[in-house]
Amino acid sequence: MSKISPFSCVQMLTVVLIFAFASFTFGQDPVDRLHRESLVWDCHNDLAYRVLYERLDIGDRLPAGHVDIPRLQEGQVDVQVVALFIQNYLYPDKAARQAFQLLEAMTGAIEKNSAAVELARTGSDIERIVAKGKIAMPLAIEGGHAIENDLELLRKFHELGVSSMTLTHNISHDWADSSADKPRWDGLNDLGRKVVKEMNRLGMVIDVSHVSDKTFFDVIETTEDPVIFSHSGCRAVNPHRRNVSDDMLQVLAQNGGVIGIVFEVTFLSPKYHQAAQKLRAIGRPIYQKVPVIEDMDLRITIEHLSQGRDWPLENLPTLDDLLDHIDHAVKIAGVDHVGLGADMYPRTPSPLGIRGAHDYPNITRGLKKRGYSEEDIKKIMGQNFLRVWKQVTDKNLR
Ligand SMILES: [Zn+2]
Repeated sequence: MSKISPFSCVQMLTVVLIFAFASFTFGQDPVDRLHRESLVWDCHNDLAYRVLYERLDIGDRLPAGHVDIPRLQEGQVDVQVVALFIQNYLYPDKAARQAFQLLEAMTGAIEKNSAAVELARTGSDIERIVAKGKIAMPLAIEGGHAIENDLELLRKFHELGVSSMTLTHNISHDWADSSADKPRWDGLNDLGRKVVKEMNRLGMVIDVSHVSDKTFFDVIETTEDPVIFSHSGCRAVNPHRRNVSDDMLQVLAQNGGVIGIVFEVTFLSPKYHQAAQKLRAIGRPIYQKVPVIEDMDLRITIEHLSQGRDWPLENLPTLDDLLDHIDHAVKIAGVDHVGLGADMYPRTPSPLGIRGAHDYPNITRGLKKRGYSEEDIKKIMGQNFLRVWKQVTDKNLR
């Protein structure tokens, strides 16, 4: 029988310490491992604007931005839904033109960076692309006015790679009411119902962020598929018109859909929203003196580049405010119906703790701290959106 000498105890302790240090250094921290194992999905970003109007390459670490390929890779984001946001003043007859321009610019940018990203048309595409270690980029039109009341245009956008559409932005257009405008139809009219049914038939994901409450309930009555809020918060946490009521969250859960919790700071915090409104109220008279620019492309470019002038820098919401919205949505809708839809935009502030896509591990860490199980964290970080995408966009593959 041999005894362990004090010397060998020290040696063993050294080995244990070296092993522990090495594990930590090489990413064996349990949260790092969990984040790496999770499918991480952001359901809303306006990268296409940077590509078209700033002529930037998404493969570069972009100036004054939150999202680009290097930052997505650093934050281990697997799926980035890119919105093709259509300016409301292009309604009724210049909207499709902008949608085609953004679509062409964005598909070109994806093609140019094909070593790192791929356009994803379906849920199966997403699984295939992510399995190769690349970032999947589904494209979504933001603003149903883009189709100019023509189902043929909707079919064309789908054929060219668009897999989702936000039914309205901030105007009530010819077939659906927005949360930011006077109602025209008390929800969805007959053409609106036809659009919903055609999206069901094509296998396109219906996005109800921005629509009026009544439009949301009409969509739920009409659709045969789950729907999403790609970027919204909870009205019970911040009573902003863009956020979703508890009734709507419950109905969304019954529909099988998902809400992507937005990071946009005025939607997160009532105090910050009030401060931003005050600052904008002072700024508005100056804006109104600026003559309308006839050249639409120039006008959009100038507006895009001038974003960020009227955001207060005090009392910015934090990661904890974002987690409060997630907690509430989980409490009301259930953990199977909550995801992330950041909407981080250049030159506008993001919540403290989330500088950009590279800080997504902070969300995983925050959820873990709040006591979520690993399985539930994976659902919130991306599995829930994958479930809906597969259910809706893969159906014509079956
Ligand atoms: Zn939006």
